[in-house]
Amino acid sequence: MKPADLPLNALYDAALLDLDGVVYIGDRAVPAAPEAIAKARAAGMAAAFVTNNSSRTPSSIAERLTALGVPAAASDVVTSAEAAARLVAERFPAGAPVLVVGDTGLRWALIRRGMRPVTQAAEDPVAVVQGHSPRLGYDLVCQGALAVGRGALFVASNADATAPMGQGILPGNGSFSRVIANATGVEPVVAGKPMRPLHEEGVARTGAERPLVVGDRLDTDIEGAHARGAAGLLVLSGVTGARELAAAPPERRPDYIAWDLSGLNESHPG
Ligand code: PLP
Ligand code: CA
Repeated sequence: MKPADLPLNALYDAALLDLDGVVYIGDRAVPAAPEAIAKARAAGMAAAFVTNNSSRTPSSIAERLTALGVPAAASDVVTSAEAAARLVAERFPAGAPVLVVGDTGLRWALIRRGMRPVTQAAEDPVAVVQGHSPRLGYDLVCQGALAVGRGALFVASNADATAPMGQGILPGNGSFSRVIANATGVEPVVAGKPMRPLHEEGVARTGAERPLVVGDRLDTDIEGAHARGAAGLLVLSGVTGARELAAAPPERRPDYIAWDLSGLNESHPG
């Protein structure tokens, strides 16, 4: 059989599955997703769930996936918070103070990597790590800007300018990290897709030799896959429609396109 006749679950040993827009949208599963993931796993394809959203812990995301019919352990989930925490822990010694402008998922990930979360610039943090938090307040942003202005490393869990929600397009973490960047003139180091740290964390977690990145965004999922030499499947169940797809520059053009995750179990000739 020619490779083009084989389903993707036979051509790739692991799927690095984006979450929002791919497995679920808000609090509902994408209809085809649970069955498609079960079928791909039964065919021998490993699955990791790789999200740019840093606000929740892997175990709370795994619980949500399992409740939606996609059995997952915390170790199957990789968040941009974990990638950001690893990036910080690789540069600074255990116990170093890190100012967290973010939510539970980010604090948890930093503690797990041995860092000490703080909330005040006066504690001389070695780094400021910013991630999505619905409770973000002006005072904490000011502490972040003060610490970055004094030379702390500025890390953003992810740079998505928007976070599409049920009610429409809302500002994502990339829009919030612009506040500190504009106020200090310092650009953040980004951990999430399309940058290397989150992709590498996903590959390491599955032990994949031939990973297939699956996502609904061209600028994070597909561009990130191509920058790391991985193939990308775009699913149309999320934010990308025909118009963006037609206008995509070469580095954002997916290798495969499917309506939803059932595309994992299909062949994609030419
Ligand atoms: N960041 C935030 C705050 C979000 O709400 C979302 C999606 O809901 C994302 C990032 C993107 O998440 P994912 O990478 O799972 O699509
Ligand atoms: Ca997504």
